[in-house]
Amino acid sequence: MTHAMPKLPYAMDALEPNMSQETLEYHYGKHLQTYINNLNNLVIGTKYENSPLEYIVSNADGPLFNNAAQAWNHTFFFESFSPTPQQAPTGKLLEAINRDFGSFDAFKEQFTKAAVGIFGSGWAWLVTNDAGVLSIVSESNAGNPLTKGLRPLLTCDVWEHAYYIDYRNSRPNFLNAFWNVVDWEKIEKRYEEK
Ligand code: MN
Repeated sequence: MTHAMPKLPYAMDALEPNMSQETLEYHYGKHLQTYINNLNNLVIGTKYENSPLEYIVSNADGPLFNNAAQAWNHTFFFESFSPTPQQAPTGKLLEAINRDFGSFDAFKEQFTKAAVGIFGSGWAWLVTNDAGVLSIVSESNAGNPLTKGLRPLLTCDVWEHAYYIDYRNSRPNFLNAFWNVVDWEKIEKRYEEK
């Protein structure tokens, strides 16, 4: 089974000025493509040759895990955005955010703090457990909360390649822009489908 590049649900320049076309050309077009190429090369001859991507992420280790997780994480990340996003959650997800973080603003503050605070490369995640309780998880490198039995709802890539073209060294400025393009309608669907 060959793993394919996901289709972006928007044009390469659609997230400007928050994420530039040049950033997407590198981040989606080159970094993600490389992880998928590596995954397709590494999986040949292993017991995961015909496994779905999520199964590989949940079970593999070493270089195969790293490239499979980076493929999954980036696909999930890029599918979280819209040029015309619903700017805040509603419904059951908003209720859960208010219950577990106090308010939407308090959640954004805690998630931003987690993302900015990751030392080196990694990913900040909003996750739910099987009971629908939300939490924020920080992961290094290719880390993915699926390996801890948690279901991802939202992620922010804090590898420097995610922001260096647009924001240079300023990860906080990237986080400010990230919030402008997160489509909460999609995040709500993930929570309701979990
Ligand atoms: Mn990345």
